[in-house]
Amino acid sequence: MNGIGTGFAWRGLSWGHVLVALLLGCTGQAGTVRMDASDAPDAKAWSESATQLAREWYPRLGNLLSSSDLVRLPDVTIRLSTTYAGVAAASGTTIEMSAKRVVELPDDSRGVVIHELVHVVQAYPGGSEGWLTEGIADYLRCAVYEALPLEQFPRSDKEQGYRDSYKVAAGFLLWLESGPAPGIVRQVNAALRKGTYRESVFKERTGRELDTLWNEYRAVFARATPLPSVTRLWRHAKGSFELQSDGTWGEFEGGKKIWTFQEVGRSSSQIELLDKSRNLRLRLLAREVRLGNSNGWSVLYRGEWVANE
Ligand SMILES: [Zn+2]
Repeated sequence: MNGIGTGFAWRGLSWGHVLVALLLGCTGQAGTVRMDASDAPDAKAWSESATQLAREWYPRLGNLLSSSDLVRLPDVTIRLSTTYAGVAAASGTTIEMSAKRVVELPDDSRGVVIHELVHVVQAYPGGSEGWLTEGIADYLRCAVYEALPLEQFPRSDKEQGYRDSYKVAAGFLLWLESGPAPGIVRQVNAALRKGTYRESVFKERTGRELDTLWNEYRAVFARATPLPSVTRLWRHAKGSFELQSDGTWGEFEGGKKIWTFQEVGRSSSQIELLDKSRNLRLRLLAREVRLGNSNGWSVLYRGEWVANE
């Protein structure tokens, strides 16, 4: 590098001049990060490392969530407060954090800084979809900054479980980004910022409704649960599915057989059943029965296998 550096001189410019110009060009669009730890002398070491982290990541987060509306990131202040009772909160361009907590949980608190910086970058108008606001903040914190693999995100097994927001929604967004809808975070972010977000964006991108996508995401992990060694009786709150001596499966309710299914497929984690007369397909899994429909598979019952009758 030395040989190139000393040899370079073009119309009076040196490498030093070029470097200064490049630095100005790269940082000219990003806002500054200021740390106010004057209230919290105990947190001095943490505040110094967090300032460095925030200065590195703030422009990155800005780039990851860039849209034509956001030309320049605003300057942001992180204030460590000894009186603030919560974990942290971003309000406009000020982030308030508990000084006590950053000392007790220094690593987690660095993740919190990333999460709150995302809120400053988002700058969504009021009344935005809360699960997406928090889900995107935790998506950038956990999937991008902490590099957490998909299987380690907390999950919800509820219908519309993405509404649990935060890390549950973040895992769902990572799954969407990883296959069904690459780029969806940036797209949804731009729409939220503009105030034009509609849930229909998921259908437009993937051909499936948001709730159907959620059920698919749940199914990815349910698939991994193997069936027990004895699979004769599967029971839910109001009835059961039972293997009959002729090899068919009966669906029982109130002690009466109401439908008969043929077993048409079996893997280590599910048994597929068909009722030809109604053209109806079911899957018996470890803890749920799913119903096949034009949109994929939805949960019909929750229950479990019973080892002995
Ligand atoms: Zn938040």
